[in-house]
Amino acid sequence: MPFFWKQLAARGLALPNVQVTNPYRVSYPGYSEILTGRVEESIHGNDPIRNPNETVLEFLKRKLGLAKEQVALLASWDTFRAIGEHTEGSIFLNAGYQAIEGPKPSPSLAELSSLQFRMLTPWDNARHDYITYTMALEYLKAAKPRVLYISLDETDDWAHDHRYDRVLDAISDFDQFLERLWNTVESMQEYRGRTTLIITSDHGRGGTLADWSNHGKNVAGADRVWLAIAGPDTPATGLSDAGAAQRDIAPTIIKLMGLDPAEYKGATGSPVSAAFGR
Ligand SMILES: [Zn+2]
Repeated sequence: MPFFWKQLAARGLALPNVQVTNPYRVSYPGYSEILTGRVEESIHGNDPIRNPNETVLEFLKRKLGLAKEQVALLASWDTFRAIGEHTEGSIFLNAGYQAIEGPKPSPSLAELSSLQFRMLTPWDNARHDYITYTMALEYLKAAKPRVLYISLDETDDWAHDHRYDRVLDAISDFDQFLERLWNTVESMQEYRGRTTLIITSDHGRGGTLADWSNHGKNVAGADRVWLAIAGPDTPATGLSDAGAAQRDIAPTIIKLMGLDPAEYKGATGSPVSAAFGR
């Protein structure tokens, strides 16, 4: 990942050993921990049940008094329709195979929206990451949201399919997306110098030939994720062994947005201190 390591991590903070607090180490519990700053006991698998907690995205919308379109979530996996919101319809959300809705999408957004149903993946509930992140970049330029959450899928599904070659392809593609995202942010006066990128994963996976393709509560290594943060508040530390937990991400986002994490009720994480002090 040349862009990630040489450009992004060097400008900010890269933590390779972040603890997943939830004991399940599968996707929804991980995304729930990221998006709500807590371990939710009722979320222990990937069933698409409505998120029982207000997500940090909904919290930011409410506290900052933002319009629905100003807080956006685009995801490759369709279960984000349940994960992303406690109150359905509260934010702009497009996940899995789903057409872009709303008034008059740009021509390129309309083309991507149509293309997703014709260039299918091997998985029924996840579309290509290229569709998701290119839609997200188009949305960023058109709607200029205050908060944008992008969730990709392919490294996980190719690993489950034992296609390590495709995992590497997907990682390389992800790195090129990060470069496009960074360059887009830097090219827009609304975002340049005042935007933080936070990049992480929902769970780790096994580290041996026998279990690299898998994750879950009995897979050693699935309890470790990495976290990178780059933006105007974050010192250019690069790779760091500072400790952090997955549940710390939501409180970190709240503090970066200038709000008090204590007002986000029920969260048990704390802001990552190494992300502040520039
Ligand atoms: Zn998985």
